[in-house]
Formats: sequence, structure tokens, C-alpha cells
Amino acid sequence: MDTADVVIIGSGIVGSSVAYHLAEAGCRNVLVVEREAHQGQGSTGKSMGGVRAQFSTPVNIEMSRYSINFFARFDEVVGHPADYRPHGYLFLATSERHLEYLKANHARQQALGVNNVEFVTREDVLQMVPQLRTDDMVGGTFCPTDGFVDPHSVMMGFMLRARELGVRLWLETRVTGIDVEGGQVTGVETTRGRIATRTVVNAAGAWAAEVARMAGASLPVEPLRRQLVPTEPFAQLPERFPMVIDMSTGFHFRREGLRILLAWNDPAETPGFKTEFDTSFVEKILTHAAARVPCLAEAQVNPRRAWAGLYEMTPDHHAIIGPAPDVRGLYFANGFSGHGVMHSPATGRVMSELILEGQARLLDVSPLSAERFTTGQLLHETALL
Ligand SMILES: Cc1cc2nc3c(=O)[nH]c(=O)nc-3n(C[C@H](O)[C@H](O)[C@H](O)COP(=O)(O)OP(=O)(O)OC[C@H]3O[C@@H](n4cnc5c(N)ncnc54)[C@H](O)[C@@H]3O)c2cc1C
Repeated sequence: MDTADVVIIGSGIVGSSVAYHLAEAGCRNVLVVEREAHQGQGSTGKSMGGVRAQFSTPVNIEMSRYSINFFARFDEVVGHPADYRPHGYLFLATSERHLEYLKANHARQQALGVNNVEFVTREDVLQMVPQLRTDDMVGGTFCPTDGFVDPHSVMMGFMLRARELGVRLWLETRVTGIDVEGGQVTGVETTRGRIATRTVVNAAGAWAAEVARMAGASLPVEPLRRQLVPTEPFAQLPERFPMVIDMSTGFHFRREGLRILLAWNDPAETPGFKTEFDTSFVEKILTHAAARVPCLAEAQVNPRRAWAGLYEMTPDHHAIIGPAPDVRGLYFANGFSGHGVMHSPATGRVMSELILEGQARLLDVSPLSAERFTTGQLLHETALL
């Protein structure tokens, strides 16, 4: 029978970051179990790759602050490219309510040392993206170190380095059970046999609730479809511009090579493991696109290039990070609610500290504990993206 000090279930960007950080901290008898034949088949391979410090809750701001600094040094520290592009995030407010929200966020960001978020005028915005419709704009914010990474590259970088340090990765191996004796994890059952271990990290993304149930634990994580639509090559927008968020609709977009990547979270979407792209979405998103960027009405879209993936939603749209309340040795790194790429560096670091040192030193992740759903201490973040 195989044994491991830590078994990580799921080899997406989160599981890979946890593996990397454990290995870097000296814990190398780590086994990552992945049911697919390749990494990145879950949400990581479907992501838009956006990274931003412009959040409203302290814990999300702190997770981002550490993670974005990490992405800026990733190539040097990890030895593989992250393709971090600090092109910024531009939030456009068209109502006083949204402007008040940006102002309150700005104050919290400043208080936590994120000092480079600026308020922008219509003129500033038009300098960045002259094609935007701004007649209804009442204000906005821009952070130049927000931007994008290549999620696949980050995931591979974390895992390649972890493997260089001795971590093992089992592909095409499904976890089918978690053994618990007297409230303590003792092993993991897989399609490749049993692994004896006293520590398990649930990094199973949108499938995390099912994995938690294997240990008799409950985890409020639900899959929710999100769809992205790239245009055909489009030259009428600048070669470089920030991720732009139209706060009036939630429509957002950025450049990806020659194409423009269009995103909008349809409020009519319902939970479920739906990964088919719905072609009727193209018309809906193009309507929002043309309303904010009139020239996008001329963009061509081939629906076959569009795709759908799953957000892993929690009731308060914040991650669940920390030990399972009732099962010793089981840890959650779940429920990122659409922010798992950008928060993967901080999550890996915090998880390795929790496992190896019994507490998170990097930042206080107690607001993200699973207990908050039973004690009613939910967090509040406006779910714009
Ligand atoms: C369209 C879209 C756009 C997004 N945009 C952004 C963005 O701009 N910025 C951002 O930060 N985030 C974004 N996200 C969210 C982000 O992609 C996720 O939060 C992140 O990828 C989660 O990573 P993960 O490693 O937890 O999960 P995943 O990448 O889903 O990995 C989980 C892995 O667990 C494996 N697994 C599950 N069950 C088992 C089992 N029983 N046995 C073995 N293996 C198992 C799966 O096969 C999978 O490989 C987006 C997501 C989508 C869908």
C-alpha cells in the first residue's frame, strides 16, 4: 500500500499551488490525485485569467495583494512562466450607488496597503479605450497592477516545480472514498488502490462537495456555469488596454492576442454541472458589448470558439479555506466562487502553513473557515464578476 504525508485531491491551479508550497516548505512526501488524463480539465483550463486587488472585503484584498506580488515574481521564484500582464482593471460606474461602492472599497484597499488604485475621469478612461461609450459614466477606478495571467501556465509551473522537489502526481486516478476512523482521516481510496495518510486536502474545485461527503463532511459548494465568448480577430480596439468592467450590467472584456474576450455572468443561470456552451448566449452578450463599446457591434463571433466552465460557488461568494470542522486531517481549499486562479498563490501558502505549523501566518483566514456557515458569520462581497 502507498503512503503519503499529504494527499491532495485535484491537480488544478489550487491543488498544484498547495503541492508547490508544501514541497517548498520541506514536505515532499505529497501525492496529488487527479481523475483526468491531463491537468487543467476542470475550471482552471476554462478561466479568463483575471487577477485584481480591487475587492471589497479585507480577506479578499489581502489574498489578492499577496498573490499579485507573487505573480509578478513567479517566473523567477518558481522557474516557469506565469505570463503575468499588468494591464490593469478598469471599473466603470454609471450610478451613484456603484460610485459609493468603489469609494468604500478604495478606502478599505488603502487601509490594507493597496495604494495604487486611482479614481478616473471620463478623459482618463477615453485615453485608455477611446471606443468606450462614457456619456452615462459618473466615475470609476483603475489599478495598474491588476491584470491577467495564463492559468494553465501557472498551474503547470507550480506542479512542475513541485515534482522537481519530489511531489508525486497520479493522473487518471479517481478518488472514490476517504477513510475516517474515530474522527481522524486514515486513508484515501482510489481507482489505483488505497493510500494511507493522515492529511487530505480537498482541491476538487466544483466537485468539492462530493469529495467532502466521502469523509462524511458537508461543504456548501455549488457548480455554476460561466461562459466566455472570443471575437474573431478585431483591430478596432487598442492593442493593449485593461480589463474593463461595465458595472451597469457586469459585462467585462479584455484583449487576448488578436481577439477580444467577452464575459458576462448571466443572472438567469442556475446551478448544475452544465459545461455545454449555450449558443443563445452569443446574442445576449453581444447586446451588452455593443451597448458599452459600439464598435463591437461589428465584431464577428464563431460560437464554436466560445466555451463554458464552472464557477465553484459558496453562499457568500468567498472561498472556504482551513480544516474541516468535524474531521481531523481533512482540509478545504474550495469554493473560490470565480477567483481561484488569482487567489491560488495565497491559498497554497496558507494551506501549507495550516498543515505544517497548525496556523496561517501569512494572513488571517479565519473569516474563510467552514464554520461560518453554521455560526452565521457570512461575508459580504457584491458579486459583480
Ligand atoms: C469561464 C470562467 C472564467 C473564470 N475567470 C476567472 C478569472 O478571471 N480569475 C480567476 O481568478 N478565476 C476565474 N475563474 C475561476 C477559476 O477558474 C477557478 O476558481 C479555479 O480554476 C479553481 O481551481 P481549482 O484547482 O480549485 O479547480 P479545478 O481547476 O476545477 O480543479 C479541480 C480538479 O479536481 C479534479 N477532481 C475532482 N474530483 C475528483 C476526484 N474524485 N478524484 C480525482 N480528481 C478529482 C478535477 O478533475 C479537476 O482537475 C473562472 C472560471 C470560469 C469557469
